Amino acid sequence: MAFFDNFSKKVQDVAFVAAEKAQQVAAVAGEKANAVADKAKIEYEMAAERRSMDKNYRALGEWYVSTLEGDAPEAVADIVAAIKDSQENLAAYEAAKAEAAAEAAALKAKGIEPCLAVILVGENPASQVYVRGKVKDCGECGIKSLELRMPETTTQEELLAKIAELAADKTVNGILVQLPLPKQIDEHAVIDAIPPEKDVDGFSPVNVGRMQTGQPCFLPCTPAGCIRMIESTGTKIDGKNAVVIGRSNIVGKPAALLLLAKNATVTVCHSHTANLKEICANADILVAAVGRAGFVTGDMVKPGAVVIDVGINRGADGKLHGDVNFEEASAVAGYITPVPGGVGPMTRAMLMKNTTQAAAMQNGVAI
Ligand code: NDP
Repeated sequence: MAFFDNFSKKVQDVAFVAAEKAQQVAAVAGEKANAVADKAKIEYEMAAERRSMDKNYRALGEWYVSTLEGDAPEAVADIVAAIKDSQENLAAYEAAKAEAAAEAAALKAKGIEPCLAVILVGENPASQVYVRGKVKDCGECGIKSLELRMPETTTQEELLAKIAELAADKTVNGILVQLPLPKQIDEHAVIDAIPPEKDVDGFSPVNVGRMQTGQPCFLPCTPAGCIRMIESTGTKIDGKNAVVIGRSNIVGKPAALLLLAKNATVTVCHSHTANLKEICANADILVAAVGRAGFVTGDMVKPGAVVIDVGINRGADGKLHGDVNFEEASAVAGYITPVPGGVGPMTRAMLMKNTTQAAAMQNGVAI
């Protein structure tokens, strides 16, 4: 299993600290530790140069563990532990994806091929990237995918007709319409048209209502992924002070509801919230879904807090940035998700799981 996909800046930071600490240790541990320190520094610099390439992060992390674990001086044990911690946290989405793959295999063993239909209307570049990611994940999980592209000029009637066709198709288990839609199409009408049992995005009013009342349903993938990432850290949500910044229907509100269902004391902040900084600084769990790069600064993070960065913002530099100032917040937080990586891949993993569950449900089998 790819342990270090989308390996984050956090590991670079850890690696940098490792290199520095290893250098300090070298002073007392002699030549051997010196060699470790030199190698660490070289590896760090190499990875830093090519930090956008996942393979380097993976190689860097694996190298650190193998090198430092073996015969490292005792003083670097905490560094090894920190790196392993990062691996486990970042591996949370891999675990979710592996579950989906196992469920897809179990379905196939029963003669059922799970299938997800993804409709993309128009040429939105970000949407194209998201759809590609979903189709790729389907392939990796053994889920059949249908990628249906419709032109920017598609009318609402044409899109609704396509959804009706997929709704009637027994070989299609999940239907996802990539948002946003061109302005001539009413998003609500489209979401309403997806049958709840095929609504693997968890956006339809039936699924939203069932979630609100605590009944079995398809949970929206991003908020469900946030919960899973929080729990992957070993953090008990029960009794914690949770703050969600953002109140959109697809992220903020459902994230708050799911945290509430787990017995957190939840505060939802939005653009009219007074004293937002103070509220956030008191959060044991902070979920940022604002859509503004670097909105959450270090002084808004309680020491040791779990910080989940949902934001995906394209900066003037052409790169993706989260809603959290990672550099500042990671110095204070106990756990923080990276962007890119983190919530994005976890969201897709939850989509895979919803699809296998939909296939099982529609065929009346348990997986
Ligand atoms: P919306 O724009 O729908 O909602 C943003 C929310 O942030 C609103 O509730 C808004 O408040 C609040 N907000 C905006 N500015 C401020 C401010 N200055 N102070 C306090 N609150 C503010 O965005 P989404 O919920 O759809 O998405 C949020 C982010 O998450 C985006 O970057 C998006 O790209 C990303 N995203 C990532 C996903 C993933 O898979 N990782 C999935 C979905 C989204 P108000 O309601 O008062 O306007």
